[in-house]
Amino acid sequence: MTTGKIGVTTENIFPVIKKFLYSDHEIFLRELVSNAIDATQKLKTLASFGEFKGELGEMDVRVKVDKEAGTLTISDHGIGMDADDINKYINQIAFSGAEEFLQKYKDTANSIIGHFGLGFYSAFMVSKKVEIRSLSYKEGAKGVQWVCDGSPEYEMSEIDKTERGTDIILYIDDESKEFLEQSRIDTLLKKYCRFLPVPVISGKVKEWKDGKYVDTDKNLVVNSTEPLWTKKPSELTDKDYLEFYHELQPGQEDPMFWIHLNVDYPFNLTGILYFPKVKSNIDLQRNRIQLYCNQVYVTDQVEGVVPEFMMLMQGVIDSPDIPLNVSRSYLQADQQVKKISSYISKKVAEKLDKMFKNDRKGFEQKWDDIEVFIKYGMLTDEKFFESARKFFLLKDVNGNYYTLEEYRTLVEANQTDKEGTVVYLYATDKTAQHSYIQAAEEKGYNVLLLDGQLDQHVIGLLESKLEKVRFVRVDSDTPERLINKADAKDSGLSALQADILTGIFRAEIPQMEKTNFIVEYAALTEKDAPATVTRNEMMRRMKDMAAMQPGMNFYGDMPDMYSLVVNTEQPAVKKILEDADKTVGEVVKPIREEIDADNKQIEELRSKTSETDKKQSAELEEKVKKNREREEGIIKEYADKQTVVKQIIDLALLQSGLLKGEALSDFIRRSVSLLDK
Ligand code: ADP
Repeated sequence: MTTGKIGVTTENIFPVIKKFLYSDHEIFLRELVSNAIDATQKLKTLASFGEFKGELGEMDVRVKVDKEAGTLTISDHGIGMDADDINKYINQIAFSGAEEFLQKYKDTANSIIGHFGLGFYSAFMVSKKVEIRSLSYKEGAKGVQWVCDGSPEYEMSEIDKTERGTDIILYIDDESKEFLEQSRIDTLLKKYCRFLPVPVISGKVKEWKDGKYVDTDKNLVVNSTEPLWTKKPSELTDKDYLEFYHELQPGQEDPMFWIHLNVDYPFNLTGILYFPKVKSNIDLQRNRIQLYCNQVYVTDQVEGVVPEFMMLMQGVIDSPDIPLNVSRSYLQADQQVKKISSYISKKVAEKLDKMFKNDRKGFEQKWDDIEVFIKYGMLTDEKFFESARKFFLLKDVNGNYYTLEEYRTLVEANQTDKEGTVVYLYATDKTAQHSYIQAAEEKGYNVLLLDGQLDQHVIGLLESKLEKVRFVRVDSDTPERLINKADAKDSGLSALQADILTGIFRAEIPQMEKTNFIVEYAALTEKDAPATVTRNEMMRRMKDMAAMQPGMNFYGDMPDMYSLVVNTEQPAVKKILEDADKTVGEVVKPIREEIDADNKQIEELRSKTSETDKKQSAELEEKVKKNREREEGIIKEYADKQTVVKQIIDLALLQSGLLKGEALSDFIRRSVSLLDK
């Protein structure tokens, strides 16, 4: 028997391992099973080169729990190790910079494992003692046993071992008893070993007998050794892909399509990515892409490895070039990983482009299901945006689809405003904005339907990327003014007339919580509605954005601002104006003259400082206030009697969906009474 000291510079590497790796103790199983698989594969390789001439025999890996003995054993029939090998690979951990390294990567201690050949030593995270029993494949090799209790001292001795290969026996420590539960081990094997390339056996296949499950004598293989992504795409059918999908994602609807990735330069990567049906309501279901390294499961936290927007996809990626066991921040900074990410993004764009080119109709039919995904990609990935330009589709309210280029061609002639900006009109709700859409269409305009969750952002993006294009929601102005082609016609009202008309309309707008109206005038045509409610595009966008972003309550709490645009060319409005001019105008005119005169005097007194002047100024202000109230009272009294004014306002509110509750009841009652006249 020999004893010795494990060749690490630091005396107590094991406490360090235990301490730093606490978060992920379970990965020891992955490390040990991976080692067993490696040893098995190595022997197969040697055999294929004729360097090993013996019987390969059964080449599986076994994981055995012995609860009574308190051990977990991982066995293989691979190349095995002799005493020299153990010395070289186990005792002399290539670990010169251990301390320095640990210092540096304190927070990302996971990266020690694997990178520094600490895979095997992860066994000490869960064991009070570890035993290696091994017989090398080399001719005449002697069996060897290595035992270590977690201190840097080990014992090594010769043993009788007739079966080639290695048993790693873990004496599970008291804090890690969970790893003596078969069910826990099964779960871990399912997680990490599901697609390993060598059969992994854990326990027996069970059968239902006499009212309970009992072991049969058939070994239970926990993995499928040739997962679909390792096969050639040309040999696979749609059925294969769908079956594999349902194996990965039980209980899901069929995906829409998939991409089989296969690269070997400048990095190695295989995998299959599926596009699930993403409904307009994005549930950002993450962790649906699994990352493998040579069929060893690594993680389902793939942020950084795949582009952000592909988190909506599902499937597997396998690459030996992605560093195992490293922290997320390390992954994201890794150049290789960056290349992988942009490769995947490129592949996805290519696939979509191909689908678009080969089958435009089919692509359009899928569009509503994939648009969220594409839009998300365009918003978050500049390169993807550039590729997506070619196949990105705009959909109009009538269900026609256009590429960006096609759409510009379609609307440019009729929808360019006087500044030369092409105005893309859009609706966010086909039903609620129906009459606005209709009015725009009557003008020969096309109206897009942008009712998706991301569309507000997409609008912003397109405005910044497309030359001289502005998006305007169809209800943000009167049809005439949605696209200003020429200078607006003057309403032709005098200041007093405008004031009176404003007063009349304002007095009759029903009170609504957190909603303000301003009254405006526009000389539209006789045929246009007498009044229309519009909502300024910029104001609305600001509020919409605020609603989406936390911390922007300032805008969120502001009242909604609408305009009531009164059409001064409309006959009913003209009549109101004439009548008001005659009746109210006559009464208000002298009051208004008095107010104007008083205001002028107040202005003059402003520069004076004497007490009497100040007093006079205050008195005048009081008088103006009184006069204004009088004026308002007169206008209101008049307005209250104007059923037509109320009717005009309510119709405009009704059209925009704002007439509700008591105001709506009033409107109906009034309308019915009008029938009797
Ligand atoms: P790594 O696997 O990253 O090299 P490990 O600490 O896991 O680091 O293993 C160190 C070395 O020990 C391996 O490279 C291999 O040569 C040897 N080894 C570990 N486990 C086995 C095994 N089951 N059979 C044969 N050799 C093994």
